[in-house]
Amino acid sequence: MRIILLGAPGAGKGTVAKLLTEFDGSVQISTGDILRSAVKEGTPLGKKAKEYMDRGDLVPDSLIMDIMEARLQEPDCRNGFILDGFPRTIPQAEELKKLLTKLNIKLDFVANLDVPRDVILDRLTTRRTCCNPECQAIYNIKSNPPKEDGTCTLCNHQTIQRDDETEEAITNRLETYNQKTAPLIGFYEKEGLLKTFLSLSSKDTVADIKKTLQS
Ligand code: ADP
Ligand code: ZN
Repeated sequence: MRIILLGAPGAGKGTVAKLLTEFDGSVQISTGDILRSAVKEGTPLGKKAKEYMDRGDLVPDSLIMDIMEARLQEPDCRNGFILDGFPRTIPQAEELKKLLTKLNIKLDFVANLDVPRDVILDRLTTRRTCCNPECQAIYNIKSNPPKEDGTCTLCNHQTIQRDDETEEAITNRLETYNQKTAPLIGFYEKEGLLKTFLSLSSKDTVADIKKTLQS
């Protein structure tokens, strides 16, 4: 499959993307994950991105486009990809359109994950992430908790609350989403690529996306 997942922070893009990779071997491409490992490794990219990310602001479009132009040409993308957290702005969407034309790649559709705001807020403040960069399993202290001592059930590393999951950063991320990313819904509607899924359970959403792919 070749799809874009669109949705507010906390809409479940990461979880849905991971489940979809198990379906047909398409790779998940998360710009957030790529940036977080660059920050952790202290690469030049990570040094540039960190201050934006900690505040909950978007990283400049030019940096993101450089990452994505290289990433989409890696061999593992040939079987398909699920874009998670990209594009995030209208300029990124316009650049992506040019890039896909150049690479002769056609998208199946853009899946817009629609989740009520109170559900989103609750999910973001209760989210914990495994600190192991190879794992990054996502937990929720209410609905899907890690082990009692806070370690990951998959790899035993500690689960942590991300720096951008403080209340202040979360409010900022949601505002940034409304201002910069929500306009992509109209953009992809015009392109004839938009499919909206009311997304309360990741499993149901994955099933709906698979059905849409097969129809
Ligand atoms: P979220 O849970 O907010 O969807 P992500 O893991 O997708 O978070 O991204 C974390 C942070 O990385 C964002 O708040 C932003 O600073 C940066 N980021 C990720 N993807 C992009 C992008 N496409 N454009 C600009 N910044 C990005
Ligand atoms: Zn883990």
